[in-house]
Amino acid sequence: MHLAVVGGGVAGLAAALRLRGRAPGAEVTLFEKAARLGGEIHTERIDGFVIEAGADSFLTRKARAVGLCAELGLADRLIARQAQHAGTFVRHGGALHPLPEGLTGMIPTRIDALADSALLSPIGRRALADERSMPAQNHPREESIAEFVIRRFGREVYERIVEPLMAGIYGGNGARLSLDATFPQIRDLERRFGSVIRGLAESPDQGAVDAAPPFVSFAGGMGELIEHLEAQLRGVSLQTSVEVVGLTPRPGGGYVLVRGDGAGADADAVILATPATATARITRAVDRELSEQHAAIAYGSSVTVSLAFRERDLPRPVAGYGYVVPRVEGSDVVACTVASNKWAGRAPQGHALFRVYLRAHDGGDITGQTGDALVDAARRELKAIYGVVATPVLVRLSRWPVAVPQYTIGHGGRVARIRERLAAHPGLFVAGAAYAGVGIPDCIASGEAAADALLARLGATNRVPRGASA
Ligand SMILES: Cc1cc2nc3c(=O)[nH]c(=O)nc-3n(C[C@H](O)[C@H](O)[C@H](O)COP(=O)(O)OP(=O)(O)OC[C@H]3O[C@@H](n4cnc5c(N)ncnc54)[C@H](O)[C@@H]3O)c2cc1C
Repeated sequence: MHLAVVGGGVAGLAAALRLRGRAPGAEVTLFEKAARLGGEIHTERIDGFVIEAGADSFLTRKARAVGLCAELGLADRLIARQAQHAGTFVRHGGALHPLPEGLTGMIPTRIDALADSALLSPIGRRALADERSMPAQNHPREESIAEFVIRRFGREVYERIVEPLMAGIYGGNGARLSLDATFPQIRDLERRFGSVIRGLAESPDQGAVDAAPPFVSFAGGMGELIEHLEAQLRGVSLQTSVEVVGLTPRPGGGYVLVRGDGAGADADAVILATPATATARITRAVDRELSEQHAAIAYGSSVTVSLAFRERDLPRPVAGYGYVVPRVEGSDVVACTVASNKWAGRAPQGHALFRVYLRAHDGGDITGQTGDALVDAARRELKAIYGVVATPVLVRLSRWPVAVPQYTIGHGGRVARIRERLAAHPGLFVAGAAYAGVGIPDCIASGEAAADALLARLGATNRVPRGASA
């Protein structure tokens, strides 16, 4: 039996690992367009700096990533953020305002701390306080993140707190993103508790969540996860620099994968762990609607600029992990991370490492700008906020033209339709960030679920004990 995985991001690698572990007799091939594996997880280690081109951490609340780390023998490589530098800020009106931490990724859990914040006017603080006593409303139609948050918390809380936190995850526009598809747990809190704030305080699992660090990375950067996955994929044929451009159904079942160089590769079943844009192209000849539903999933583009400085060149010590920037500030900067404060070991002694995260404020494709323009924008930001005027000792720029899928209004329906169409193609499965969560734990879970579904469909499961699959 020959099984193929297309796409060597974390979802495709997790799928391949599951196939290898649970169907040891199968021949598994993974095709990756780029020369390296990892997709949006890419760590560069240069002159003692550990630089994240893409993702820099993951949430522990979603258990699957931590579980995979344990299976890979990586649990002791996980690191929490450096407590001595704790602090996240919002840039508002040219100044940084402290932000209480938010385990939901969007609404700060310890929201009471905002009661005295200069980030909100008295009207904004009142709207926040009033949320506790607002009745739950069952909205007849799907709401955007902006609609929901403004309805419950008022415009200031949305624009100054929720929008920049949300944009740090999706890089998109909260007026278009669906609340149900992005943060269903927030809607659920309204339904269950009547109030999001009361729900956050009363959630029974809150104590357990508080015990674990909310975000973790690896001592050597996120790339450790990819390196370990690759090392565990012995026996899987890893074909990098091979683009898959189409699929041709075989008469007796299965597919011929059409490679970019025109060559074909046979597979009895295929998992497409590619961005929706690529999946749309690959599936065009198999199922028109399946392809069109994928094409309708839009992506945001983003750029990260990492800049390193000698500490003695900074005008003053820099406090905290970094900050987020509300869209209403009118900037292309979404966030700035002080990587060397946030994580141990990111910069050699006597150096500081910053990362500026950019997206086009007008919704365009920021990756088309020149490198000089992007680096200048990042340096202007560091000058305005931290007073840094020195020449950086190191600059790394990463362009992400197809960065994060935008779960816009209607996303849930599109994914449901994709699942329905897939049911008509017994050898075809999909995985990755395009469907039910863009975070790394979601992508891992989606890759593993696709592999399980494939094996169940083919009746090929040769189950090994849990934990031994790696
Ligand atoms: C700048 C940035 C920061 C982020 N930060 C975080 C974070 O801190 N925490 C977090 O949890 N998430 C973060 N994310 C999101 C998260 O990293 C991604 O959602 C996740 O890694 C996506 O994994 P994936 O396997 O679904 O897709 P990808 O990583 O996109 O992998 C898909 C792979 O498919 C390959 N491919 C595409 N087309 C073809 C083809 N035709 N043939 C063969 N191969 C193909 C691509 O080259 C790529 O390697 C971030 C994303 C970005 C861009």
